[in-house]
Amino acid sequence: MEKKQFQAESKRLLEMMINSIYTQKEIFLRELISNSSDAIDKIYYRALTDDNLTFDPDNYYIKVSVDKGNRTLTLTDTGIGMTREELENNLGVIAKSGSLAFKKENEAKDGHDIIGQFGVGFYSAFMVADRVTVTSRALGEELAYRWESDGADGYIIEPAEKAEVGTEIVLNIKNNTEEESYDEFLEDYRLRSIIKKYSDFIRYPIKMDTTVRTPKEGAEGEFDERVEEEQVNSMVPIWRKNKSELTDADYENFYAEKHYGFDKPLSHVHINADGAVVYRSILFIPETPPFDFYSREYEKGLELYANGVLIMNKCADLLPDYFSFVKGMVDSESLSLNISREMLQHDRQLKMIAKNIESKIKSQLKSMQKDDREKYDKFFEAFGRQLKYGVYSDYGTHKDALQDLLMFYSSTEKKLVTLDEYVSRMPEEQKYIYYAAGASHTRIEKLPQTEMVADKGYEILYFTDDIDEFAVKMLMSYKEKEFRSVSSGDLGIEESEEDKQDETETEGSKELFEYMKERLSGKVSNVRASKRLRSHPVCLSTDGEVSIEMEKILSMMPD
Ligand code: ADP
Ligand code: MG
Repeated sequence: MEKKQFQAESKRLLEMMINSIYTQKEIFLRELISNSSDAIDKIYYRALTDDNLTFDPDNYYIKVSVDKGNRTLTLTDTGIGMTREELENNLGVIAKSGSLAFKKENEAKDGHDIIGQFGVGFYSAFMVADRVTVTSRALGEELAYRWESDGADGYIIEPAEKAEVGTEIVLNIKNNTEEESYDEFLEDYRLRSIIKKYSDFIRYPIKMDTTVRTPKEGAEGEFDERVEEEQVNSMVPIWRKNKSELTDADYENFYAEKHYGFDKPLSHVHINADGAVVYRSILFIPETPPFDFYSREYEKGLELYANGVLIMNKCADLLPDYFSFVKGMVDSESLSLNISREMLQHDRQLKMIAKNIESKIKSQLKSMQKDDREKYDKFFEAFGRQLKYGVYSDYGTHKDALQDLLMFYSSTEKKLVTLDEYVSRMPEEQKYIYYAAGASHTRIEKLPQTEMVADKGYEILYFTDDIDEFAVKMLMSYKEKEFRSVSSGDLGIEESEEDKQDETETEGSKELFEYMKERLSGKVSNVRASKRLRSHPVCLSTDGEVSIEMEKILSMMPD
C-alpha cells in the first residue's frame, strides 16, 4: 500500500513536536478525550435538527483502556466518526489555527511548555506514541477505515471493519529511553489522575475498566475477580450547578481539591453570566497569602476552561495585578480549545470576562467590608498591601477603583478604618485628612508632630507600611479632602491669638536659632519656634512634598 506524506506544514510541525522536550506530555490524553467529546457533541447537535436521529445520552461514552503487555493505550468513543476523506483531511493536515498558534508560541522562544498551554490536538499523541492507529466508522456509513502513522514518515489509510459508529484510537506507547520514561501512560492510576485533572468535567462518561474482587463463597481467603467498567470523570462541574444547591462546604472542598490553597477561603463568588459574554466562574478570596505571594515567583491567574475542558492553568490576563490573590476558574463556551496564549491576550471575549470579573471581585470585597468587618480586617491584613500597590502602580490609573477598599489604622478609633469613615467623622473646620508615618503604632504615638493635631481632637491615620504614603500621594485627596502629613510645615490649623506670639518668639531667639542652624548645616533648612509642640521640646517638620519617612524609604531604594 502506498504511504502518503503529510502536508509539508504538518510534517514540520510533527518533527518539531516529537523532537522537542515537553514538560507536560500527559496533555495528549486531554486532547484526545476532547476530540472524542467533540465527536459526540456533533451527533448531539445533528440529532437536534434531524428527526431520524435520536440522542439517548446513555449510549454515548468515551472509554480508555490499557494493555501493558503490548504497550498499547486505546481510546474508544461513540462519536460521529470519520469518513475516509475526513481521516485524510483532518488527520493529514493540521488545523490552521493550531499550527499558527504553535508557530507564534515558538517564536516567543519560551516554548518548552507549548502543549501545556494550548492544544495542537490530535498530533500530541505522538509525544507518547511511536505509532498511532485510528479506526473510524462515520455515522451513516457501513464501511470503516483505518488510518495509521508512525510519526513523521507519513500515514496509510485502508478499509477496515468496525461494528459500531465511532472512533477507536490505539497508541503504541514509546519504549523508555535513558532520558524519558513512558511507562506511566500504561498505569491505570496515572491515567485516572490525568483524566481527573484535565477532563473531569467532560459532559460524557469517560470509562475505564476496574477489577472488582469479592470474597468467594465457601472458600476462605479466596476471591472472585470480575472486570467492571467505571466512570472516572464526575461530569458535572460544580460551577455548572445552581448556587442554591451548593453549600459553603462544597465550595471549600472544591478549593482544596483544586489545590488553590491550604487555607480555607474567606469568601467566594459564583458567577453565571449570560449576557454579552457567556461564562461561568467561581472565584475565591483566600484567607492567608501563599508563602511566595510577595515574591517574584508568585504567578497570578485563574484556571481557564473552554466549554468544560481545561486549557490553561493560570490565565494571568483574567486578573489585574492588584487582585492577584484571587483564586478560581472561568469556563466559557465562547473560547476555542486551540487558542494560544498570544491570541488569548487579544481575545475580545476574554477581555470582557476579565473586566466583568474585576468588578465582581470589587463588589464582593466592598460588601465584605460593609457586612462583615471582622472578615474584611483579616482580608486586609493579608492582602491590603496589594491594594495599596494597586493604587500606586500604573501612574494611579486604578486609584478610583481601589480607594474605597483601603483601610488605615486610626488614632481615635484604635482600629482600621476606611477613608469614607474618616471623612464622615471630620469636624466641619478640619481641612485635611491627617496621617503620620512611622515604624509602628507606638513609635508614631510618640512623635511630637502628632501632638498638635491630636490636641485639636482630629483623627490621625497611622502609616506603618512603606507603601502607605506613596499610595496616598497618588490619591492626593479623598472626597475633595487632601491628605496631609502631620510633619508637614502647614497643617492648615487655625492659629489662635496666643499662638501668634510665636513670630515674636522666633525674633527674640534669633541668635540661638541662627547658631543651631549653623551647627546643623546641611541637615536642616531652618530653625524656628513652633506652636505645635505640647510635651516635646523639639520636632522635625517638612515643607516639601516628601515626608521624613518617605525620604528614608527613597534614600534606601537603589537608583
Ligand atoms: P481540533 O480538535 O482543534 O479540530 P485536532 O487536531 O484535535 O484539532 O483534531 C483534528 C480533527 O480531527 C478534528 O477537528 C475532528 O474533525 C477530527 N477528529 C479527531 N479526533 C476525532 C474523533 N475521535 N472522532 C471524530 N473526529 C475526530
Ligand atoms: Mg482537538
